[in-house]
This record gives sequence, C-alpha cells and structure tokens, in this order.
Amino acid sequence: MKKNRIILVIGLLCITLGCIGYMNLNYDILARNTFVTKENHDLLIKKLDDEQILYIVENNIDVTEFDEFLEMQAFDFKNYKLYIKVNEVRKAAPYTIVSFVNAVFDKISEDDLLMALQHYDYALLRELIINRSYYNANAAVVLNPSDYMLKLGLANTIGKYEPTDLVSLDDYTEISLLNEGLLLREEVANSLSNMCSYMADIYGEKCGGFGISEAYMSYDKVQEEYTSALSTYGPQIAYENYGYPSHNEHQLGLAIDIELNDGEYMEFTEKYTILKNIAHKYGFIFYTNENVAFSHMKRANHMRYIGREAAEACYLNGNCIGEE
Ligand SMILES: [Zn+2]
Repeated sequence: MKKNRIILVIGLLCITLGCIGYMNLNYDILARNTFVTKENHDLLIKKLDDEQILYIVENNIDVTEFDEFLEMQAFDFKNYKLYIKVNEVRKAAPYTIVSFVNAVFDKISEDDLLMALQHYDYALLRELIINRSYYNANAAVVLNPSDYMLKLGLANTIGKYEPTDLVSLDDYTEISLLNEGLLLREEVANSLSNMCSYMADIYGEKCGGFGISEAYMSYDKVQEEYTSALSTYGPQIAYENYGYPSHNEHQLGLAIDIELNDGEYMEFTEKYTILKNIAHKYGFIFYTNENVAFSHMKRANHMRYIGREAAEACYLNGNCIGEE
C-alpha cells in the first residue's frame, strides 16, 4: 500500500511539473499589454530585450505609436518617445526619423531639438547639430532663425537655412533696385516699400534717391562672395565685408544694403540724415558699434530690420539687439 501511495505522489508531482513546464512554454508576457497586436508581436520580441519588454508591459505602453519606427533596422528603444515627438513636429519617413534622432539625441536637449525642427529640415538640422560651423566648431545652433530680433554672429550659426516667406522686390514699384533678383522676407519688403514712399514724398524721386544694392543672400552666394574676397583681399577684409557663410545676417532676409542712385557718397548728405532718423519708424536700424562681434560691424550702407516696436525702442535707448 505504502509503495502505491509513493507512486501516486510521484505521479502527481510529475503531472504538476509537466503542467508548469507546459504553461511556461506557452506563457506570453506581451499578452498583458493591451496594445500588442498580431502584427507587432513578433517584432517586439525580436527588437526588445527582456527588460524593455517588461517595461512596456508594466506600463502598458501604447506600442502602436512606434510601430513604424520599430520596423527600422536602427530602431533604438531608448529613443522611441523622441521618434514620436520629432515626427509630430515635422513628418517624415520612419527611416529619416530614426536615423536623425539616433545621430543627434545626445548632442542637443529635447526642447531645443523640437524647437529647431519647426524651422529646419532634417538634413540641414542634422548637419548643423553635428558639425556646427566650418568657421566655429562650437557655434550654437540658432533655434529660431525666423526671429526678427536674432543676433547672428560668429558665436551662432544658421547653416544653409533659407527663410520661407521671401518675396521678390521686383513686385514693389516704390522700391528702387540697383541689382536684379533681390529678395526679402515679406514683412520687411512691405515695410521697406512704405519707407520708400515716405522718402519719395519728401524728395520727389523714387525712394528719395536711394536704391537697394543687396538684400537676401543665400548661403551659396555669401560663400561665393566671401571666397572671392578672401583670395583678393585676405581673411580680415573678406570677413569684415562679407561675413562668414552661415553667420551672415543677409541670409536671414532681414538686411539690405543701400546706395544713392547717382553714386554720390551718401554718408554726409541731408537725405541720409533724414533716412537715419526715420528708419526706425519702419522697423529698420543702423548698427552703431565698430567692434561689435556680429555678422556686421558698423556700415553706413547696411540696414537691418528688427520690427517696428523694437526699432523704435532701439532708436530711443540704443542697445539694438544686444549691441555692446
Ligand atoms: Zn549688408
């Protein structure tokens, strides 16, 4: 009898262990996450380690939110939230998102990254964050290159950024143009046109005799002019006259260079004095500091748009966008 009882106990034990083993084989921890589907299940198992699986299960993470990124070979679980956020700011193919985030996530804060992405495309921003500038490897990335008050200099860079609201000055009959193909941001062009009307009323000629010789410059154009000046005049003069590519505020579409149409030296003319005293009413300023570490030092012919309110405050109090 005793022998039979022992056999029975051993038998039951074997069945119990067998059941546990069978349950273990078929136990699926992912079943506890309510977002796991037939489609993403195997991919999750393949791409995530045990700790990550446990995390998405315990927190019931909505894994469908990063399904499309999970399919990418370079998917990195630690960046999954950033893939989602970045894609919300600027939609792109999953491959673009994953490779971009993986390349830059540890080189810029999340807030800065999301802000900058509102203005730069992926290729441009990646290049900016990783390489900064040829002329200053430590230059800060300008987070908002569309800011009318942006102080652009050697300490910060916009790379090859192009404003999105450039308009042709050919469409403004009040503005006198000394070169072809000039562009400015729309608000700046409108304001310049109004200022020209005012000058025309005083002097009875288009824009009071002032013409625009330069306005928006693309990165390539600045590069071309800088390189040409560099070989002709050397680095100091090339920098002073053209600024470094990716640091030149003409790239912002907020700066213009002016001349008198008749070629007269304008600085000591009455009309130039008038212009200097009314420009702020139209949002423009002239820089006053010879040594400002800026994209432009004081130049009689260089005007910068910063918006009417700011320009009026600047005219009254000085210290225009941080000039020291
Ligand atoms: Zn200029």
